Amino acid sequence: MTDSASSPTASQPTSAPLGTPSFSDANGHSDYATMLSPITVGKREFRNRVIMGSMHTGLEDSLDDIPKLAAYFKERAEGGVAAVVTGGYPPTMEGNLTPFGQPFNTPEIAEAHKEVTQAVHEGGALAILQLLHSGRYGYHPMALSASDSQSPISPFPARAMTVEEIETTIAAYATAAKYAAEAGYDGVQVMGSEGYLINQFLAARTNQRTDDWGGSAENRQRFPIEIIKAIRAAVPEDFVIDYRISVLDLVEGGQTQEEILQLATQLEAAGVDLFSSGIGWHEAQVPTIVTSVPRGAFAWATKVLRDHVNVPVVASNRINDPEVAEKVLTGGWDEGDGTPADGPQADLVSMARPLLADPELVNRAARGLAKEINICIACNQACLDHTFSNERATCLVNPRAGYETELVLKPAEGTKRVGVIGGGVAGLFAAEALAQRGHDVTVFEGSNEVGGQFRLAMRVPGKEEFVHSLTAVQERLSSLKVDIHTGEFRTPEQLLDEGFEEVIVATGVEPRIPDFPGVSEGLAGKIDGVQVITYPELISGKKKAGKFVAVIGAGGIGFDVAEFLLEDRGGEPQSLANWKKQWGVTTDNETAGNLTQPQPDRPHRQIVMLQRKTSKLGKGLGKTTGWVHRASVAMGGALQVAGVTYENITADGLHITISAEDERAIKVAQRAGLTLPEADGNGRIALTLPVDSVVLCTGQESVRPGDKDWTGEEHTNVHIVGGADVAAELDAKRAIRQAVQVAAKI
Ligand code: NAP
Ligand code: SF4
Repeated sequence: MTDSASSPTASQPTSAPLGTPSFSDANGHSDYATMLSPITVGKREFRNRVIMGSMHTGLEDSLDDIPKLAAYFKERAEGGVAAVVTGGYPPTMEGNLTPFGQPFNTPEIAEAHKEVTQAVHEGGALAILQLLHSGRYGYHPMALSASDSQSPISPFPARAMTVEEIETTIAAYATAAKYAAEAGYDGVQVMGSEGYLINQFLAARTNQRTDDWGGSAENRQRFPIEIIKAIRAAVPEDFVIDYRISVLDLVEGGQTQEEILQLATQLEAAGVDLFSSGIGWHEAQVPTIVTSVPRGAFAWATKVLRDHVNVPVVASNRINDPEVAEKVLTGGWDEGDGTPADGPQADLVSMARPLLADPELVNRAARGLAKEINICIACNQACLDHTFSNERATCLVNPRAGYETELVLKPAEGTKRVGVIGGGVAGLFAAEALAQRGHDVTVFEGSNEVGGQFRLAMRVPGKEEFVHSLTAVQERLSSLKVDIHTGEFRTPEQLLDEGFEEVIVATGVEPRIPDFPGVSEGLAGKIDGVQVITYPELISGKKKAGKFVAVIGAGGIGFDVAEFLLEDRGGEPQSLANWKKQWGVTTDNETAGNLTQPQPDRPHRQIVMLQRKTSKLGKGLGKTTGWVHRASVAMGGALQVAGVTYENITADGLHITISAEDERAIKVAQRAGLTLPEADGNGRIALTLPVDSVVLCTGQESVRPGDKDWTGEEHTNVHIVGGADVAAELDAKRAIRQAVQVAAKI
């Protein structure tokens, strides 16, 4: 690291805001003065410091979807961001992520995108097109990379590019940028991070070339530098070139920070106006965006870059509210070791998922309504998990995201009195959508507090932020004058009798109790030394588990419970310093990939996770988050046994059988120090797990108020949504979407 620029430079702001904030409350005051202040980037003025980061929505690949894409971006531009960055467009066919993509290299595509850029400009923001060559992450047989190789996340091997292919690819970047300018884009973002092609050239891990494009760091860096030079020569002078630089590779054989800074100096000289931070390759074994990653976890790495270059830099990853953003921009955020940074860590912030969750984030912050922001809970369930399943990205807490032209909340034709039974997230989000449309809405919650399953989830380590979803929706409901009655149980019949014209039943679920001997006695506390606990009883603190615990059921809740048992922090989020230690992230600028030996905390207790299916535990967890949950429980030393039959619970513990042919289960039992008897006549081995607690995570059953069945078509004014409708595969994503869809039609 050089010490050339530890003081701010001409185009970098100090912690004091530059110029007048674009937004403020009625008194001209804002808590987010720096975030809301304008900044010059290259030759363009950004109206504030918030950029909507790139996110593939699934609407990029077909020109037929352009109107939907335009509506999606327009809503975010109108919501106050300074600029939006599109999903990644490849400069060449080989650079496609999937076989369906369309390179940004024809006059037709440029013409079609004028609808997008016009919509963004009408919303008052700048439009930036991301250029992304997937390299060996291409999910197709044409994949190319710096060297012959195959990424661990793609079944397709990539071939090393020839020198001629390197040169034509560089030229293709310039052509794509020229077409972007023609389409009305104000700039391009060159994706140089996350392990895509450019990153593959930059790291020794994937670049074993022996020609002028490999070997030394200088040679490995030639590819992006030549791309930037070619783009600069092809575009108008005021066209913004944003380079997304990997400030942390987080893979073995990745770049050192010294190499990254050396690259940044040269890219700046080649014509880069703005550096956006990229964190970690997609194949990294360190989580970078899920809920359990502390907020602003990587701002310290962006600061290292900011202190080195003379153009503005953008921080990203887990910056999901204006408070974190303002602190990152002014120097109040954690430097990574528990102390606040000694100056701004970035000049702008990039938020992608937070703007899916709430397109109005910037406007709300500017109007003094930050408490109403519909926070992104970093679950990935409806955005990245969809992208990686080739589904359109949307948002768990905002089902309208990506569906702006289809899920429309039009003003109601006449105001109706609507009663919502159940104050879980389905009920609360239904109430909000109904009230936005002009209905007169009242929520009745039987227990003493709203929140339902979310109130449990927010006690799970790493999910503490779920609380913000609940507090924010209550703030919005209060602004919309929705009455919430807690501790008031109602049936649909009662509400109809009270004069409500429509009723939403969102009464959620209760835990399923498995039917084998000992369960009900254990639940009633009648087994000496062994207690049986449902997951709500455990997570709410009603019952406490002992030191050796069996977790029955290994779906999403089983894994949440395992993490709760292993890491119970009493509802406090993990500190950044502790998180870095746990995952082996180092700030040392000479260590390749900034990776060191992980040092997980010692677990509080021994747990064994069980399921009846013979498949791997946690197989059904989210595509982009499941591996983090599996890694977390593995770090905590949890034993995992599949293919189990539950026999009985007695004072000796939990009695199960496993198949004598199941080598994996037998190995786990041996690791646990259990004596293995002979198999019985059915080929089953009987085992007793000497646990003191058994936690039931065995799915849910629907809860509906009253005895009457309201499911028939004749009950047109009673609508059953969420878990009350179908408990199987219940998740908040389906529940909230169904609730808002129903609310859109009343
Ligand atoms: P789930 O995914 O359906 O898992 C329930 C588990 O219980 C299964 O592993 C099942 O496995 C077992 N089970 C079911 N009936 C049983 C019975 N009668 N006796 C013994 N075992 C039984 O349900 P969940 O874990 O409660 O999760 C509910 C929903 O929330 C899911 O849609 C889930 O995706 C979502 N969620 C997701 C996350 C996440 O992604 N991180 C976190 C929390 C919740 P066997 O039949 O093999 O034993
Ligand atoms: Fe955030 Fe989850 Fe919505 Fe994705 S689905 S934007 S992670 S809240």
